[in-house]
Amino acid sequence: MKSRPDGIVVAIDGPSGAGKSTIARQLADRLGYIQIDTGAMYRAASLLLLRAGVDLADLAAVEQFCQNIDIRLEVVSGRQTVFGNGMDVTDQIRTPEMSLLTSKTSTLKPVREALLKSQQKMGNRGGVVLEGRDIGTVVFPDAEIKFYLSASVEERARRRFEELISKGEQVTLADTVADVVERDRQDSERDIAPLRQADDAILVDSSRLTVDEVLTIMVTICRNKIDNMESLI
Ligand code: C5P
Repeated sequence: MKSRPDGIVVAIDGPSGAGKSTIARQLADRLGYIQIDTGAMYRAASLLLLRAGVDLADLAAVEQFCQNIDIRLEVVSGRQTVFGNGMDVTDQIRTPEMSLLTSKTSTLKPVREALLKSQQKMGNRGGVVLEGRDIGTVVFPDAEIKFYLSASVEERARRRFEELISKGEQVTLADTVADVVERDRQDSERDIAPLRQADDAILVDSSRLTVDEVLTIMVTICRNKIDNMESLI
């Protein structure tokens, strides 16, 4: 197995609302690793495409636009901040409209190719926890640890609903369930890099587990792996 200078690559894939972001952030903190939220990168790319008025049916235009986009994830004053072409877009990318738009733009080859390259570059040295839909299958098929974090549709919709309400969004639970079902469908049925559990990923079902319980399982697995790899050096 190849070793990386800054540690291992931990991949966390799974459907929307399974708790990937919360878990990835805390897992990265516990390991002293960097968290890379690839969903935030797809959301930022979508917002930039939308603002620039690029016709999504014109793949040549999408490709040209994506060649020049700059998406960065940085911690600013202790907060994960997303920059798209230098602008702070952290809050604007989190609306239900952006969620649905991103499920569409993320099916486009030029968008995926551009982000795939930058994600590989960001994570290649190791010491990272990447979360998304295709990390263990496409971005880092050689990740040292792969998790597939899932939960029932009802539980995921309930969590998303509470999150949106707490942010003051006007949504109903029924709409949120419909959105979750629709995003699952778009993410798992697309041709390029569909959402699926890698053969060698560890399945963690968070439906009946607290964040702390999920975290304990994952931290233990990661630490064992890191210790084993260090003892081989
Ligand atoms: O994780 P999050 O819900 O923020 O991701 C937003 C959307 O970005 C997903 O619904 C999916 O369509 C897309 N995505 C993707 N591949 C990833 C991460 C996210 O296609 N690795």
